Amino acid sequence: MSNNKQFVEIRWHGRGGQGVVTGATTLAQAVLEEGKHVQAFPEFGPERSGAPIKAYNRISDAPITIHSEPRSPDIVVVMDPTLLWVEDVAEGAKRDTVFVINSAQTPDILAAQVCSERGQTVFAVDASRIALEETGKNVPNTALLGALTRATDLVGPTNLLKHVRLELEKKVSPEHLDGNLRAVRRGWCEVREAEASAPRGAQHSLLAAKPGWKDIPIGAVVSQAGNARDYRTGAWRTMRPVLDSSKCNDCLLCWLFCPDSAVLVEHGRMVGFDLEHCKGCGVCAEVCPPKIKAITMVPEIREVEMHS
Ligand code: SF4
Ligand code: SF4
Repeated sequence: MSNNKQFVEIRWHGRGGQGVVTGATTLAQAVLEEGKHVQAFPEFGPERSGAPIKAYNRISDAPITIHSEPRSPDIVVVMDPTLLWVEDVAEGAKRDTVFVINSAQTPDILAAQVCSERGQTVFAVDASRIALEETGKNVPNTALLGALTRATDLVGPTNLLKHVRLELEKKVSPEHLDGNLRAVRRGWCEVREAEASAPRGAQHSLLAAKPGWKDIPIGAVVSQAGNARDYRTGAWRTMRPVLDSSKCNDCLLCWLFCPDSAVLVEHGRMVGFDLEHCKGCGVCAEVCPPKIKAITMVPEIREVEMHS
């Protein structure tokens, strides 16, 4: 995609805690410096780590007078690969929409999953792996910004690096900032383009696969007390707890501290996790005694791929 389009709308799909809003606002600051008009705004659902959220950018050569949610995005950024199973990331896509997806999959496999038109293009980058390697955290926004810049030419890489620095230097340590700058460069270098866009196949959908799923009502109002069991927060997970039962001594600290009652106990023994409700917060792994460390948090998508 060239940067000579006069009006571009971008939709970001991510999860709480992944830096979705920071990604959209950092891009906006960089675009602004290049003399364009720009908007950046989020759309929140439940304000919890791991909950799906969206953010939007509008970029224009002329002043922007629309303030509603973009319905037909030119660019779709998917910050978490598990969202491909739970959201229609291609909703409203145009014939030439560009998708930039955080995934270890090949872009051709992703294109078969999300594209409905031959003119659509998919770029893939393993942004979670880059973020974990460079910063120790699965916050893939900076690697995706690098990939997005390379794929779409919206801003120059030097300008982007400058604004990532300006945005993050007041929030994170110098080491973490350096890690994020390396992540931007690696996202730029490691992004891959699909060789041929394929018509979209049937999207795998947890919504369809799991009867009983309900959309959260507008405003996330809880009208019935005690209904947490009805909400399958397992689809919010980006990291999954894995138990090494050979190390576990059944102290049940994980059961005590789990905020979602997702640690399973039978006859006084810890036996695993309720993955329909575990949202991957990692509290169980934190409280498991350091000399035991029977719980490891692993990226969700790799577990899904291994068992699919
Ligand atoms: S990661 Fe652990 S503490 Fe967090 S919801 Fe899942 S089982 Fe509970
Ligand atoms: S906290 Fe660790 S050792 Fe204790 S029951 Fe949970 S997994 Fe086992």
